[in-house]
Amino acid sequence: MTTDVNYHPAAELLEAFAQGTLSTGLSVALSAHIELCASCREESRRLESTSALAWSQAPAQERNEDVTEDFSALIASIVKQPQLKELSSEQFSVDKIHMLEHSVTLPRALAKVASEGLVWKKLAGGINQAQVTLDDETQCEFIYMKPGSQVPVHKHQGNEITLVLDGSFSDELGHYQAADFVVRNQAHLHRPASEEGCLCFAVLDGPLAFTKGLARLFNPINRYRFRRATSQ
Ligand SMILES: [Zn+2]
Repeated sequence: MTTDVNYHPAAELLEAFAQGTLSTGLSVALSAHIELCASCREESRRLESTSALAWSQAPAQERNEDVTEDFSALIASIVKQPQLKELSSEQFSVDKIHMLEHSVTLPRALAKVASEGLVWKKLAGGINQAQVTLDDETQCEFIYMKPGSQVPVHKHQGNEITLVLDGSFSDELGHYQAADFVVRNQAHLHRPASEEGCLCFAVLDGPLAFTKGLARLFNPINRYRFRRATSQ
């Protein structure tokens, strides 16, 4: 779709996505970006085949080793998250968001989210927000900024990921257009503003959500163990 993408997820985020260790909120944002961005799509395919290869080449002895770490807390936190169902565009009743002057076709992962029903709230400064609940680690929302609107200056506890779906916005650090994947953390004080109007999907996570999976389930062997443990 869009080829002119300037802001991409970091390599370790794509890696965690390929390993399947991200929260549902982050996974949805990543899937949507990957659908819009050819280079991340290619990279994510490469990562998935690399992790499958690493697993198939691991010595049998290693693969059969008993699990020595206690994964029970981690497993419990993951299995209670809502699972994404099969993504197929036919089954969605909502694949577009209608705005004042035009409609925006959503990436499939977000069409699924939107078809659960969006309730828009008007906030100050020309900002409209529709919150969605995808897991218990992230706060996810669609944000529509009217032309000429500005979000009050703010700072975050964790990471804020913003995927631009339509239009554009700017802050102190740059100008962002459709398909751009923008990450801001607690070090950034920012004040997004949009001249032409902008539709985004934003994910706010706590400081832990990013690294929990990475730290403990980084390699494909552990992932296999995890899958085996949870499929019983
Ligand atoms: Zn990308």
